[in-house]
Amino acid sequence: PPVIHWFRRDLRILDNTGLLKASRERRPVIPAYIVSDWSGSHNWTGAKRQHFLCESLKSLNRNLETIDGRLIVRGGEAVDALLTLAEESGANAIFFNRDPDPFGKATEHRLQDACKERGIECRGFHDHTLHTAEEILTQSDQPYRVYTPYSKNWLGRDKPEPGGKPKALRTPASLDSDPLPSLDHWSIELPEDCSILPAGERAAHDRLKRLINERVESYADLRDVPSADGTSRLSQDLRFGLISIRTVYQKLDKARQSAAPSARESLQTYVKELAWREFYMAILHHYPHVLEQEFMADWRGLPWDEPGDDFEAWKRGETGFPIVDAGIRELLTTGFMHNRVRMIVAMFLTKDLHIDWRLGESFFMQHLVDGEIASNNGGWQWSAGTGADAAPYFRIQNPWSQSKRHDPDGKYIKRWIPELKDIPAKRLHSPPEGNEPLAKGYPLPCVDHSTERAETLTRFKRHRQQG
Ligand code: FAD
Repeated sequence: PPVIHWFRRDLRILDNTGLLKASRERRPVIPAYIVSDWSGSHNWTGAKRQHFLCESLKSLNRNLETIDGRLIVRGGEAVDALLTLAEESGANAIFFNRDPDPFGKATEHRLQDACKERGIECRGFHDHTLHTAEEILTQSDQPYRVYTPYSKNWLGRDKPEPGGKPKALRTPASLDSDPLPSLDHWSIELPEDCSILPAGERAAHDRLKRLINERVESYADLRDVPSADGTSRLSQDLRFGLISIRTVYQKLDKARQSAAPSARESLQTYVKELAWREFYMAILHHYPHVLEQEFMADWRGLPWDEPGDDFEAWKRGETGFPIVDAGIRELLTTGFMHNRVRMIVAMFLTKDLHIDWRLGESFFMQHLVDGEIASNNGGWQWSAGTGADAAPYFRIQNPWSQSKRHDPDGKYIKRWIPELKDIPAKRLHSPPEGNEPLAKGYPLPCVDHSTERAETLTRFKRHRQQG
């Protein structure tokens, strides 16, 4: 009987742990994808990420055809759809790679129980990170709550090697498949003027190649310069598993061996970012309450303002703070925002507008192509000052000085806010003089940073005293 490989966030054929294991069973493999059936709006996803998913599935199907396979697409609730597929095809085993999110894990548990009842073999594999959350623990076997000791432990461990590509899957020709999904499936559309990176396994490998050949040596210097395009742009590829984390690490390690000492340092800076990704996944694994509550108990129940006009202006990129607006406009157009700008934009929402980080978290999830629940939650709680290893509440970044420091010539701001293209750079980094807008059609700053900074400090201090 055939074995089903259930594709989820592992949309590739190269070094895919579950797929490789299924192919080594020496029986036909049914590569399956179950399309979720929500429609209309969703708090945690949106058209840009779903578009990238659809493109990735197209590419996956083409790649599967090169190894005598074909993606069998079904809709509906995943467990029901997989069991129906097993019954139709006579498959007596379902393999999959484990999901790092609580929602995905809950589905896995339901699938495991249902398979047990029916005598179907059900096997989940670790695939999405270099190390599992259970592997990296303190000396007393506790999860880490702080990044630096976590990363020391993580960096010091041997890393798993990538596996290969399956030979022939021999997917049964008789099986029906729904068409590959498009945005119509969820009744959503890409906004006009949207420009999203090409998807698929090949595109992800091209980005990795460009990182190794052109970017990694200057990464440490340029990673905080949003206008420089100096980062890897691999986040959506890791999110959807278009490339395996083992392949990324192996290629970096190989490059390290032949690199000059300064380049080696830059490479290490990059690898430490990969450790942040796994740190936040470990936090989500050990402390799943972070999706609802502040990681730090001290900060639960902080008073936030009701979202009003300022929140709407923030969501449109019209706060009158150019660096904040440029970030949001980059996000709305590309589904991406530079990491430094994500921090500025998030801190502005929570510390200058006093809006609950959960609203920002959800807005980011709706627009980011790389929307990754663990990293996004970690980034938001870091910025709000409530998370694991977060910025302390009193360290409030000034959006004007951040802008001057990271975009001194205003190149990034001007790229995303054409209204400001003729404004001298130095005027972009402080409130406009005489209460005159910087340019026609560009709003005045919606708040005064020093006043709001003082308000945040008061709220946090009062909350601590009352707690
Ligand atoms: P690079 O600088 O090239 O980094 C390489 C890889 O390391 C990234 O692809 C990513 O997988 C990982 N990484 C880098 N920085 C971080 C970080 N701070 N936390 C976790 N992983 C990191 N990243 C996401 O992948 N998805 C998200 O939904 C997400 N939301 C965020 C929200 C906020 C408020 C903040 C402050 C950060 C968020 N990040 C998120 C982290 C970071 O901004 C992105 O990973 C990064 O900008 C992606 O661009 P890149 O691939 O060019 O990064």
